[in-house]
Amino acid sequence: MIALANQTPVARTLPRHISPSAAKSYLSCSLKFYFERVLQLPAPTTPALHLGKAVHAALQAFHLARWRGGEDSPESVAAAFHHSFNELERNEGPVKWKDDKDRTKSYEAGARVLGAYLDSDEVLKGRPLAVEVPLTEEIEGLPVPLTGMVDLVTGDMVAVDFKSAATTPNPRQAAFDHELQLVVYQLLIERASGRTPKSLDLIFLVKTKEPKVIRVSSPPADKARVLRVITLLRTAVEGMADGRFHPQPGMHCSWCPYRNECTKWPASMTGNAA
Ligand code: SF4
Repeated sequence: MIALANQTPVARTLPRHISPSAAKSYLSCSLKFYFERVLQLPAPTTPALHLGKAVHAALQAFHLARWRGGEDSPESVAAAFHHSFNELERNEGPVKWKDDKDRTKSYEAGARVLGAYLDSDEVLKGRPLAVEVPLTEEIEGLPVPLTGMVDLVTGDMVAVDFKSAATTPNPRQAAFDHELQLVVYQLLIERASGRTPKSLDLIFLVKTKEPKVIRVSSPPADKARVLRVITLLRTAVEGMADGRFHPQPGMHCSWCPYRNECTKWPASMTGNAA
């Protein structure tokens, strides 16, 4: 075995907990995970990420209003979106807009897709059971606690996660792509409430010119699906604990902000790859 020169002593201890986003990031490319979450190298905010966060904040404001019995009019949702769009840019930017026109286009797409959700059959009806609840639970088979934030649990016990999308998703592919996250939500809800969600749903807000709202529903996971997800989570935890961070090239490299650092791997493991 060849010793890697200048390799930083990476974490040889277990992470404090594991979330579905950290596991998915690690399993997609462990080196990108290392740059992003271990070294925390700065990366520019993409317009899609910025818009997704602002739309998410407006949805949260709407669902919380429904939960509290507060102001939930389209105008209040539009105001929450406007506020988040500007605040996030100020606090987490700069955003990589091409120009002012690009920014305006993005803002209008967000406002349109939120309006489409409020007008759609998929809009939350009645009072939800939970909105944006952070949950952390011990799960059998996992060496560290499992943590996650469920966007919405409806009054009739459907777990919902919202996604912003640029194109219309293929339902089967979407359910497959987000299986880890959805099953984690099921596990967290089961541990926290003692009840199994009756459905695991994704609601896609599609930012096409004519915006679309598409629900993709999956049944609750059986033992085999749960075992598969717990094994994936454990694989990620063990990889992080053992310091296994290496390039995993694929389509995702096209939008990776760390390509420069990646080409210098393994020297870039020092975090000083100039
Ligand atoms: S360029 Fe590709 S292989 Fe390299 S860190 Fe980024 S995602 Fe991973």
